[in-house]
Amino acid sequence: MSQRLILQVAVPAPLHTLFDYLSPDGEPEARLRPGVRVMVPFGRGERCAVVMGLARHSGQPSSRLKAARRVLDDAPLFAPGDLALLEWAAAYYQHPIGEVVANALPVRLRRGEPVVDSEHRGWRLSESGRQEEPARLRRAPRQAQVLRFLAEAPDGLTREQIYVRCGACRAVLRNLLEKGWIEACEVPPEASLPVPGGQPAPTLNAHQVAAVEGVARGLGGFAVSLLEGVTGSGKTEVYLALIEHALARGCQTLVLVPEIGLTPQLMLRFQRRIAAPLALLHSGLSDRERERAWHAARSGRARVVVGTRSALFTPLPRLGLILVDEEHDLSFKQQEGFRYSARDLAVIRAQRSGCPVLLGSATPSLESLNNALRGRYGHLRLPERAGGAHAPRLDLLDIRSARLDGGLSPVMLRLTGEQLQAGNQVLLFLNRRGYAPVLTCYDCGWVAECGRCDARMTLHLQSRLLWCHHCGSQRRLERRCPECGGGEVHPMGQGTERLAETLGQRFPDVSLVRIDRDATRRKGSLERLLGEIREGRHTLLLGTQMLAKGHHFPDVTLVGILDVDQGLFGADFRAAERMAQLITQVAGRAGRAEKPGRVVIQTRHPDHPLLHTLVRQGYDAFARMALTERRETQFPPFSHQALLRAEAHDERLPRQFLELAMALGRELAARDVEFWGPVPAPMERRAGRYRAHLLVQGAERARLQRLLARWVPRLPDLEGARRVRWSIDVDPQEML
Ligand code: ADP
Ligand code: ZN
Ligand code: ZN
Repeated sequence: MSQRLILQVAVPAPLHTLFDYLSPDGEPEARLRPGVRVMVPFGRGERCAVVMGLARHSGQPSSRLKAARRVLDDAPLFAPGDLALLEWAAAYYQHPIGEVVANALPVRLRRGEPVVDSEHRGWRLSESGRQEEPARLRRAPRQAQVLRFLAEAPDGLTREQIYVRCGACRAVLRNLLEKGWIEACEVPPEASLPVPGGQPAPTLNAHQVAAVEGVARGLGGFAVSLLEGVTGSGKTEVYLALIEHALARGCQTLVLVPEIGLTPQLMLRFQRRIAAPLALLHSGLSDRERERAWHAARSGRARVVVGTRSALFTPLPRLGLILVDEEHDLSFKQQEGFRYSARDLAVIRAQRSGCPVLLGSATPSLESLNNALRGRYGHLRLPERAGGAHAPRLDLLDIRSARLDGGLSPVMLRLTGEQLQAGNQVLLFLNRRGYAPVLTCYDCGWVAECGRCDARMTLHLQSRLLWCHHCGSQRRLERRCPECGGGEVHPMGQGTERLAETLGQRFPDVSLVRIDRDATRRKGSLERLLGEIREGRHTLLLGTQMLAKGHHFPDVTLVGILDVDQGLFGADFRAAERMAQLITQVAGRAGRAEKPGRVVIQTRHPDHPLLHTLVRQGYDAFARMALTERRETQFPPFSHQALLRAEAHDERLPRQFLELAMALGRELAARDVEFWGPVPAPMERRAGRYRAHLLVQGAERARLQRLLARWVPRLPDLEGARRVRWSIDVDPQEML
C-alpha cells in the first residue's frame, strides 16, 4: 500500500516543535519539497506554514493527522541549507521555529500570498518631463537631481535605484508626479537592479592590502576574521576590494550594516564602485520593494546584498563571502520577539556555507576581540587613518569644581568659542534628547514621574510635553505644580533641546544644527541635515549618538563630550564597554590631515582607571583591561548567559514564576550552571507591568545550551506561566 507523504511543517505559532500533516489530497509528490509554503488547518483557522522536511512515517497515528490544504509554491523559497540555518537559530535561541521561519520571509509571503517576481514598478520621464530643463529648477535642487537621473534611463528606474542615487525621496517624486513630469512604468527586470558603477578604487595602502589578502586567500572555505581599523582607516575600501574578489569567483556577497549605518552615501559609494547588480534590504523600503530585493537575492541575480540585521536570513544560492560592518553595534541584536544576534549568526552561516566572514569595527566588541586575541579568529588591523589624516587628541576635562552653564564648563565654552572664531566646525555630544530629564517643583519637591513606569518624565519644551522615554506616555505641560498648586515648577538637568538654547544664546551669530531623534523625525530630514553639514552650512553641531555612527565630519576640529559619567557606573556590566565605544566612535568623526581634531571629555571622575586608559592609550588598551576585569569576574565572554524575563500587572506573579523556573532549572542543570536571581529588573515597573528576571550563567556554552534545551520547553507548564509574559534571551546584550 502506498503511504501518503508526511509533511513536517513550521507553523507560525508560539510552539517549539514542527507539526506533521498529511500531504494535500491529490497533490503530486514532485511539488512537495522542503522550502515550499503550504496552507494548513490550525486551531480553528488556517495558517501559512513552510515545509521543513518530508517523511514516510509520523510519530502520531495517521488517523489523528490532518491533511494540509494546498501547496502554494511551485519551487522552494528556501534551499535546504537555509532551512537548516533557521532550525539551528530556533534551537540556539530557544525560539519557536514557525516564528523564526516566518521572520525570514517577506511580509506578503508570510501571509500566504503568491510569489510575484516579475513586477518592477518604477518611474520614467513623461513627455513634458523630457522637455523640462532641470537647470530651471534652481529652487528645487532635489527635483532637478531626480530629473537628471531619470533622463539617463529611458527604460525608467525603480524607486530603489532612485533612492540609492538621490536618497529618501518619496515627497520629491510626488511633487514631480503632480507637475506631470514623471509617470509610473514597468521597469524591465534586467534594468531593475541598481546600475553598475565601476569608479576606480584608490590604491590600497600596505595594511589594507594585507587585510584584503588575509581574507581573499581563504575564499572558498570557512574562516572568521576581525578587521580592527580606526575610523577612517579605510575599512570600507577593504570591503569593496573583497567584494571584487568574490565577484571574480562568481560568488554573492552579503554585507550587514547597522540600522543607522545604511545611509544613501554608503549605498552610493557601493553602487559607484561595484560593477555588478546590487540589492538593498533596509527598513526604509516598502514591503514590495523589500520583497523584490529578496527575490533578486534568492534568484542569484543580485550579486551583492547590503542590508540591516534581518538581511542575514536572505536566501543566497551562491553565497561566497559575508561582511559585517561595525560588528560591535547593538542593532545587530534583535531585542524583542525572536532575540537573535545577526553578527553571531553570520559566523554560523559562514561556517555552514563554507565561506569567509569578516567582522569589521573601530571598536570591536569584547567578545570578538577575545576570539581574535586567543587566535580563534584571524586578526587584521588598520592602525592608521587612510589618506594621511591624524588621529584626534583626547583629553579629560575635570568638571568637579566647575560651574556649569547649561551643562557646559567654562573651559568647554572657551574652547568652543575659539574654534568657532577660527572658522572651524565644533561637534558637541550629549546623549540625552529633550529639554531636561527632570521637571520639579521648588516649593514642595514634586517631580514629574511616569504613571506607568518607575521613571521620570522628560520635558520637551518645544512640543510642550512631558514624555516618558520608556513607555511613550505623554502629558501636556502644566504651568502649576499638580501637588501644591504653586508656580515654581522648573526643569533640572540638560537635554539636547536645552543645550541648543544655551548655545544659541552664547553664540547668537553661529549657525547651529541639532541632530537627535526629535529633530530628525521626518523621513529624509537626517539626510538633509547631514548634507547641509557637509556643505559647511552649519558650524556648531550638537546631537546624541545618532552623530556617532557612520558619518565623517572632516571640518570638525573640536569634539566636546559633555556627559560620560553614567557609562562608568551603569548597572550593566557592559556599560563601560559601550561608553568607550561611543567616545571612540564620536572622536573618530573629527579631523583630517591638514586639520587635526581634538576631543575633550567632561567628567567628574578623571581618575577612573578605564576612562584613563581609554584616553591615554586608546580603545585597544581599554579593551584589554576590560577583558581582564571580565575574566576576573567571570562575565562574558568568559562565561555564557541566558536571561529569563517575566512581567505582569500583579507585582508578585513574575517573581513566583521565576522562583518555580529556577527550582526546575536547578533540578535539570549540570553543576557548573548557575542561577542568579530572580531580581526585579533595573526599572521594575514599565508600561504598567512589573518586571523581574533570572540570569542563568554557565562556564561552557554547550552545557548552558543543553540545559536550555531541556528547561525552556517545560516552562509553559509551570504554575502561573500563563499569568505572566515571559521570554528567554540567549546571549543577552542588555539586562533591562
Ligand atoms: P572606514 O570605513 O574605516 O571608516 P573609509 O573606507 O570610509 O574608512 O575611508 C576613509 C576615507 O579615506 C574615505 O574618504 C576613503 O575614500 C579614503 N581612503 C580609504 N583608503 C584609501 C587609500 N588607500 N588611499 C586614499 N584614500 C583612501
Ligand atoms: Zn509643588
Ligand atoms: Zn513610562
